[in-house]
Amino acid sequence: SSRFSCVEAAPPVEIFALSRSYKEDQFPQKVDLGIGAYRTNEGKPWVLPVVRKVEQQIATDVTLNHEYLSQLGYEEFSKSATKMLLGNDSPALTEGRGFGVQCLSGTGSLRVGAEFLINCAKFKTYYMSSPTWPNHRLVFKNAGFQDGKLYRYWDASNRKLDLDGMLEDLKNAPEDSVIILHACAHNPTGIDPTKDQWKQIADIMEQRKLFPFFDCAYQGFASGNLENDSWAVRYFVSRGFELLCAQSFAKNFGLYNERIGNLTLVFKDSSPVVNVRAQITLLVRGNYSNPPVHGARIVSKVLNDATLYEEWQGHIKEMSGRIKEMRQALRNKLEELGTPGTWEHITNQIGMFSYTGLNQECVNRALNLYSFYICRS
Ligand code: PMP
Repeated sequence: SSRFSCVEAAPPVEIFALSRSYKEDQFPQKVDLGIGAYRTNEGKPWVLPVVRKVEQQIATDVTLNHEYLSQLGYEEFSKSATKMLLGNDSPALTEGRGFGVQCLSGTGSLRVGAEFLINCAKFKTYYMSSPTWPNHRLVFKNAGFQDGKLYRYWDASNRKLDLDGMLEDLKNAPEDSVIILHACAHNPTGIDPTKDQWKQIADIMEQRKLFPFFDCAYQGFASGNLENDSWAVRYFVSRGFELLCAQSFAKNFGLYNERIGNLTLVFKDSSPVVNVRAQITLLVRGNYSNPPVHGARIVSKVLNDATLYEEWQGHIKEMSGRIKEMRQALRNKLEELGTPGTWEHITNQIGMFSYTGLNQECVNRALNLYSFYICRS
């Protein structure tokens, strides 16, 4: 028998399994509401025109080559990505106490960050929102963290943020816990704290000495405005927090499969920077050695050219605008049909995810009777 018969069965990744079933379904009116990827009016993926344009320039630029990047990636990219997150004149950057590391999209940035926190900085405990993007747990587990703890987030009966529950759970978290926070467009609930609520969260985290690890997968994609969507991160920096933030360029650049991301680290002063860079260099070296360049070239060209940048701003406004229109249209239709229940939450939520309030039975019926491919949660 095979040496590998000891390998245990493992469950499929739900959202990718849903996507496979969708592809196999022959029903012409099938609807794909699974994986968070932007679609056009025709239900097709959209390569941003500015990305196409830059790819054409890259393809014909004979000065470019396929030499290795360093472990920390393409510096021009990571500098621009960090500026995009924190603002061009952020004191964290002008004072040399913040920097970025190019990683493998948002997920890879979370993973490098989590490995750094547990292996090099002696963090032990982490908290995530209930509910959260399911991969947070797997990424932190594989990085070496014990099972994560949850803080309350979603108030199911009122379909809003459970701020009191969240604050109470943060108050009770042990000092030095890592708290995963969604920078904007919370996945999966679509509910973000207001500015005033973020202030209350920051107050507790400061008092309790909790460590913020922001997950920023949707900057610009939520409100159409980069500054708005990174407000929470910038606010925490302005309050003097040390923090990490994982950035993804999958959604806002439509570069899902290029795995382009950035891990931003901010410290109180610049004294840890040299050692931290050296440690992350070794973490990456022993993992994937160095990241790929294609997505980094595209993003940094766009972020550093005024004309391309403006074109891209138009694209993120178009995508975020269309998402808002779809929410409004869905709500209008539900209300027009007199569908039982209230539906304001569809338009109060932001970003591409919606906690509809449909129960398991509704979801099963939608799938089995109408080929609506929608997550069980
Ligand atoms: N965090 C959250 C909350 C997400 O929704 C996603 C994308 N689904 C990611 C991180 C990372 O995605 P990627 O690795 O493709 O950038």
